[in-house]
Amino acid sequence: AHLSSTELIRLENEHGAHNYHPLPVVFDRALGAKVWDPEGREYIDMLSAYSAVNQGHCHPRIVAALVAQAQKLTLSSRAFHNSVFGRFAERVGGLFGWEMVLPMNTGAEAVESALKLARKWAYLRKGVPEGKAIVLSVADNFHGRTLGVISMSTDPSARVGFGPYLPGVGPTFVDPEAEGGSRLIRFGEISDLERALELHGPRVAAFLVEPVQGEAGESECVGLPRDGLEKNERQQAGANNRPAPTYLPAVAALCKKHNVLLICDEIQTGLGRTGKMLAIDHAGIRPDIVLLGKALSGGVYPVSAVLADKDVMLCIQPGEHGKLRAATRVLAPPLGVGVRPDHVFVLSPRRLDLNRPLTHPPAHRNPLACAVAITALDVLVEEDLSARAARLGEVFRSSVLALKSPYIKTVRGLGLLNAVVIDEDACNAARAARGQDVAGNKRRTAWQFCLLLKARGVLAKTTHGNVVRFAPPLVIEEADLVEAVKIIGECLVDL
Ligand code: PLP
Repeated sequence: AHLSSTELIRLENEHGAHNYHPLPVVFDRALGAKVWDPEGREYIDMLSAYSAVNQGHCHPRIVAALVAQAQKLTLSSRAFHNSVFGRFAERVGGLFGWEMVLPMNTGAEAVESALKLARKWAYLRKGVPEGKAIVLSVADNFHGRTLGVISMSTDPSARVGFGPYLPGVGPTFVDPEAEGGSRLIRFGEISDLERALELHGPRVAAFLVEPVQGEAGESECVGLPRDGLEKNERQQAGANNRPAPTYLPAVAALCKKHNVLLICDEIQTGLGRTGKMLAIDHAGIRPDIVLLGKALSGGVYPVSAVLADKDVMLCIQPGEHGKLRAATRVLAPPLGVGVRPDHVFVLSPRRLDLNRPLTHPPAHRNPLACAVAITALDVLVEEDLSARAARLGEVFRSSVLALKSPYIKTVRGLGLLNAVVIDEDACNAARAARGQDVAGNKRRTAWQFCLLLKARGVLAKTTHGNVVRFAPPLVIEEADLVEAVKIIGECLVDL
């Protein structure tokens, strides 16, 4: 039976876990940057499933690859090889310039895998005593929702009520000179990472960072020391928080100096979204590990990937997953303030043999996922979607600025990853001046702005508070983008 949007939302609320707060719109059909609900209403998608459909919804080539592979072979399991994975591995590694790929399903799994890989590398290559490795990250990060990942989060809504957390990961570090004895690594603040590595460098396996923060918002850092940021500075941070151009090169240099792996989470920023194939290409750096997800399948199937060179990737070897063998105990000196390891491991030469073939794949190599991902990458390259994102991003930002709305605080972005920060106070002050009620739930918010947009056929969502992300599929027609901005302008007037 044909169910209405209202009935479908009711079914979800009744029987689906309430772990998200979606806008009340039901996707029934989609193509490119257009979406239709069950009633046939048309929308312009300005979110792209959080950048999973960079190639546009239901890209015909990607869907055809899915169907063709589904009719031929869907699964081989890890016990056997299949005829697609090798081609995918060569393609994705070759395209981005890393020697190996560890395929996974979701972004969070790619992040978890990178944490494990970095820890293993630290024990095998860097000589960090077993159990002592640290993976540093930054405040206001978003890397997913699994337990290991939320252990690094400073967002109370991601953390609170889900402890205890994974030790040895996250944006805080012990600093005896800091108030409270520890400090937080802020995004874009190179001195924070510098201090962390100065104090703890020998134990640090990796530093994990998004080149542009996709989800950052106001954060009170529950369970973590306050980072000294003033409230108004916190409010400046937000979706698509982009650091100064010198930040990432400085991060890369610091990591190199301290023999620390640099892991860049490009799950949201990668694959053309920011106007380059990877966002790190804007900074001209080459991290040790890069994480991809989302648009790696064009939104057709869950596919993510960890990219690294052999010296890192082969730290995870067949049968050694999670356990050190043939290690000898030797004494080592203390490694820094507050850190006193009691031993390091010396490893057998066999363990360091880079040429040994990886006979047991450490993750799934689903042929369906691989076929989809190969085509999703082909589409990005052949349709030159990075260049399109760069050009249309300029169009978006300049036309939003041209609206000259008093309710827009900031417009920022890179390529088609954009944030418009709504000045809710200015909006409510103007309403009050016109004699309108702004008390309680009558107060206008960025969320209500998104509801207005939706009512007029444009789909966007707040990230945190007053930050609205605009990140349409990269294939969006320029006329649709311009139309969306026109509607943004009308909704700001009516907010
Ligand atoms: N990392 C970043 C930067 C993301 O934006 C996301 C998802 O939004 C993730 C990781 C987690 O990906 P997934 O939802 O596929 O687990």
